[in-house]
Amino acid sequence: MTGVGRHFMKYPQLQIDRQKLIYNTRRILELCEESHVMCHLVTKSFRAHRPVVDAMVEAGAQFFADSRIENIERLKGYGASHMMLRTPMISEAADVVRHCDLSLNSEYEVLCALSDAALTAGSRHGVILMVELGDLREGFMPDEIVKMAGETLKLRGLFLAGIGANFNCYGGVIGNDENLGQLVEIAEKIKETYDVHLPIVSGGNSGLVYLLEQGKMPEGINHVRLGESLLFGRETSYRKRIADLYTDVFTLKAEVIECKHKPSMPYGEIGTNAFGEVPEFEDVGVIKRAILALGRLDTDLNSITPRMSGAKIIGASSDHVILDATKTVTDLKVGDIVEFDVEYGSMCLAMISPYVHKRVV
Ligand SMILES: *Cc1c(COP(=O)(O)O)cnc(C)c1O
Repeated sequence: MTGVGRHFMKYPQLQIDRQKLIYNTRRILELCEESHVMCHLVTKSFRAHRPVVDAMVEAGAQFFADSRIENIERLKGYGASHMMLRTPMISEAADVVRHCDLSLNSEYEVLCALSDAALTAGSRHGVILMVELGDLREGFMPDEIVKMAGETLKLRGLFLAGIGANFNCYGGVIGNDENLGQLVEIAEKIKETYDVHLPIVSGGNSGLVYLLEQGKMPEGINHVRLGESLLFGRETSYRKRIADLYTDVFTLKAEVIECKHKPSMPYGEIGTNAFGEVPEFEDVGVIKRAILALGRLDTDLNSITPRMSGAKIIGASSDHVILDATKTVTDLKVGDIVEFDVEYGSMCLAMISPYVHKRVV
């Protein structure tokens, strides 16, 4: 645990395994290819951190998508296509047109603003119209989408690149034959009505990976937008592991700054803790308590798990995590580094925290 190079390292640290990430990206892109589905890789969760994007490019990724214009600017020079995932703010229309060739859209006023911005810039911007199919986040209602496609075709700064849907986000609704079939039907209707080519029918996010794995992506869905699945090796509809992908691309590391035997029960008059909560405790006598230089200012502590068997988080404040280290397999001491598995939430926050050092190995 206390490696030779330890004193040159900075903690807390989010370690990113480049080879594992490259492998996961390759496998996901292969899965897409086998189903004849195009894929934009989603970079928002890791803030389009360049070394991570570099690894994805090495794995063969060409298309990138993000919800934040700041991140898309960071992607400049990488890949062949940049997609804005979140319905653009009217106030950012000019930036979206400048930095993205495609955006997902669900409001006519925004489409007009994008068209105006594109005309001003002397360019054309590709739009994908989102359809609401049950999850109840963004999207035009199915009964207005065909008409909206017609309106979009009239906007001279835009080209209608396709339609799309999103699942697994607000309502937790899963994309399946039925709702994805509806999306394909709508695409057909738009093509017939206006005699246009609709290059992209974008089915959704990492929740659709189970369909890719089973080779059951409905005919006509030819595009997905994937982030979490390749970063964590799991599809997000049933939370199942994706065959042979790594689930440990990321490792959060924190240093022990105090390690002592103390009672398990606070003593004195009990008020609230640092977050206004009245904590409750069980008295199990004296335990070994390790304090880590890691806290709520750094990440979401509810979605990290110590890898060391026997170690258990028993409390935390802004700057400290307290571990019960009584039953750990190795004897923890001050200066040791403790490793954690992270999940999507803790990874996102660690990536944006200025206190957490990112290290690609
Ligand atoms: C974040 C996002 C995605 C990617 O979701 P993952 O679950 O990380 O694959 C896809 N589409 C939209 C619209 C998003 O906002």
